[in-house]
Amino acid sequence: MRWWEKSWRQLEDALEECDVAILPVGSVEQHGPALPVGADYLASWRIAEAVAERAGVPALAPVPYGVSAHHKDFPGTVYVSPEAFKAYLRDVLYSLWEQGVRKLLVVNGHGGNSAVLRELALEARIELSMTVLVAEWWHVSAELSLFKPEERHHAGAEESSLMMHLAPELVDESLIVDGPLPEAAPVSEVKTTGEVTKTGVIGLAKTASREKGERVFELVVSKLAEVVEKMKRGELGLP
Ligand SMILES: [Zn+2]
Repeated sequence: MRWWEKSWRQLEDALEECDVAILPVGSVEQHGPALPVGADYLASWRIAEAVAERAGVPALAPVPYGVSAHHKDFPGTVYVSPEAFKAYLRDVLYSLWEQGVRKLLVVNGHGGNSAVLRELALEARIELSMTVLVAEWWHVSAELSLFKPEERHHAGAEESSLMMHLAPELVDESLIVDGPLPEAAPVSEVKTTGEVTKTGVIGLAKTASREKGERVFELVVSKLAEVVEKMKRGELGLP
């Protein structure tokens, strides 16, 4: 069920029955030569809609732009500051709360958004008694053990596989390349992506396949649908 396709009367009825909703959040940033720049928001959107369908709750339209200034060396990257991202999403959360949403599953498609989303989840909990759970597909799919750690980086094999499954028409498989692996260091030096990789790819990507992407997608959707069922039954989040 898509929130934006419903009338206000339909949403009034739906929210009276169930106070759970799903919000996909992504980013528009370079994903190497083979993947579209919208990979993160596409993934979060498609996962959110499939979970909403399975669990019978509304999914909102995705928030496309995220915290990804570190990719700005590459054409096509459109980012917002962490401050703007937080202020914008806080308003979205507050208006959802005003509409009667008390439990929100945020499906985040981009690691750069994580820190702000965690801050917001805590603020919503303290200020509104609203439960905001943050789901990130790559954490859910880790249990599959389908990919080695070096295949699970930015635009790597796992992410490429997911895109090949979700939007094969947007992936040029002939351009999938491996990138450098992140160096292990006792201290972290925060660099732009352009300093680390010339193609935008980090780690191994050539082992990507549509079949693996389908397995990742199916696992993530079924796990998150279980989460939403628990939210609906009051077994997860604030009472
Ligand atoms: Zn990504």
